[in-house]
Amino acid sequence: MYPIQMVDLQRQYQRIKDQIDASLKDIMEKATFIGGKYVNDFAEQLAAYHNAKHAITCANGTDALQISMMALGLQPGDEVITPSFTYVATTEVIALLRLQPVFVDVDPKTFCLDPEEVRKAITPKTKAIVPVHLYGHAAPMDEILEIAKEHNLFVIEDNAQGIGCDYTSKDKRVYKTGTMGTVGCTSFFPSKNLGCYGDGGAMVTNNPALAETLKMVANHGQKTRYYHEMVGCNSRLDAMQAAILSIKLPLLDGYIKARREAADYYDTAFAACEKITTPYRAPYSNHVFHQYTLVLEGVDRDGLVAYLAENKIPSMIYYPVPAHKQKMFASFGGAKYSLPVTDWLTERVISLPIHTELDKEQQDYIIDHVLKFVNKA
Ligand SMILES: *Cc1c(COP(=O)(O)O)cnc(C)c1O
Repeated sequence: MYPIQMVDLQRQYQRIKDQIDASLKDIMEKATFIGGKYVNDFAEQLAAYHNAKHAITCANGTDALQISMMALGLQPGDEVITPSFTYVATTEVIALLRLQPVFVDVDPKTFCLDPEEVRKAITPKTKAIVPVHLYGHAAPMDEILEIAKEHNLFVIEDNAQGIGCDYTSKDKRVYKTGTMGTVGCTSFFPSKNLGCYGDGGAMVTNNPALAETLKMVANHGQKTRYYHEMVGCNSRLDAMQAAILSIKLPLLDGYIKARREAADYYDTAFAACEKITTPYRAPYSNHVFHQYTLVLEGVDRDGLVAYLAENKIPSMIYYPVPAHKQKMFASFGGAKYSLPVTDWLTERVISLPIHTELDKEQQDYIIDHVLKFVNKA
């Protein structure tokens, strides 16, 4: 059996090695490391994949969120509604820009923003909502967009874990996550569903004026070289990463299919176990399974993690401390929040290995060990 990893990027690379190596060699020989054809081509390809008008590349997913908030002109003190149950990047950039994060509870089934809770959190200072398509399941965008429209709010989708996910709206139209809000942000961190071989990120939008501003913010606030219209930052996807992503993007749907098949196999195996809740799939979202996350009830989770580790099975807790309980947010009033669902999930979730190379032999081994531990008296 191949050693089990949370994500197996070595074997994934072996399948595309010749193409990748040739592209990288071309870039090294031409010494076109920054900007240029590979980067422009990838941006076009990414927009087309999303059926969106514009895609703007940048250095990583965290920057994509920050650049979006800067480009939308959010000002210190503006309130931004975000889940607390997310990766730190989502909430950190809000604080970095001295905006006020307003932490809202999630739905226990989807792990995504609960629209009713979003509604309750709105004040005259609210300027934006940041739904996170956590683990690869879409947030309930119809409701979120409706609330945003009612209150004239920006919607910044954190699509770092959701890239490739299809959302079916109430009027039965199908959208890629990241294209329904004002702007969608994604990450190409190596372990993400579309990962490069270093850092990378992007924003997609259908608004041409916003696309211009996003591009400008990512490039020191300039449209014309050395004429800086606004304060920006330096955030670039480099040519090698773009070349790698251009090769991998056409494979993304196949990668997602492999993840979904692995998830189906886990689902079937765990279906009869009362202490395990397998990932929910809302009718409006297909699931791209960036993570395969179980909710455990009446199981010693730390014991399970240790038992799996002893048997060379990695597992992860995404995330062990929700944002509102992080020291980072103490001065932003984090401790005053009561988010029972977030706290409940934080204590019960566990993510198992899921990736494009996972085989049945590995999955059977993982399943056997999980069930053996969970079912012991
Ligand atoms: C990975 C991730 C990010 C940040 O992406 P980086 O490229 O690592 O900066 C943001 N939000 C979520 C939900 C993520 O999973």
